[in-house]
Amino acid sequence: MEGIFGIFFPSACPICAKPSDDFTTSPICEMCWSNMKRLPTNVCGICSKPLEIEGITRCGDCYAERPYYSTIRTYAQFTGVMKEAIHLFKFSGMRRLARPLAELFKQIELPEADLIIPVPMTKKRLIQRGFNQSLLLANALSDFTKIPLSYDTLVKVKETPHQSMLSGTERIKSIRNAFKSAISLKGKRIALVDDVMTTGATLNEGARALMKADALNVYGIVAARAVLE
Ligand SMILES: [Zn+2]
Ligand SMILES: [Zn+2]
Repeated sequence: MEGIFGIFFPSACPICAKPSDDFTTSPICEMCWSNMKRLPTNVCGICSKPLEIEGITRCGDCYAERPYYSTIRTYAQFTGVMKEAIHLFKFSGMRRLARPLAELFKQIELPEADLIIPVPMTKKRLIQRGFNQSLLLANALSDFTKIPLSYDTLVKVKETPHQSMLSGTERIKSIRNAFKSAISLKGKRIALVDDVMTTGATLNEGARALMKADALNVYGIVAARAVLE
């Protein structure tokens, strides 16, 4: 019991083990929090992948096939403290990290949106985990941007294997047709929220479903983005 209690009410920072009395980034201490690795400044204007060459605005992938989302906004790389924070949030059930993680969105420039929509889970997966981490982030984002949140517009209609177990092409195949919009989104600008972007297959498929429902445009907003070193 003590162990479980310790997970939810730790007195020490779960990353560096020093006392963490900071309420804005709690339970992670402010020092660790400030060590998140940001994305380089030169990234693809669409998928936010770091670009090797100066003077170009789009990566080869987005030139070859334009994604359904118009752009991705993200705070940090999915590595180090950010990776640990997301794992604690998602897999250890540390839900109170939703707010400090969403607060990071205040530090990035966000396009205008009419509606905030989280990447949904199937009911089965939701029961297994007990919460949808993307919904918690989207809810906190909605709180401070005052943009309305809709948690039941985008629906996941197909169970998919854990994306982390799959290769890039397998992800695209498995997630295909996994989402559906329950209503028409005619003329609406949508902010689609997820915790992590790895290959972008999930966000792209979510955006495809929203665009199919006549959204004007969709941009993705994620706390972290995986970057191949
Ligand atoms: Zn720390
Ligand atoms: Zn790109």
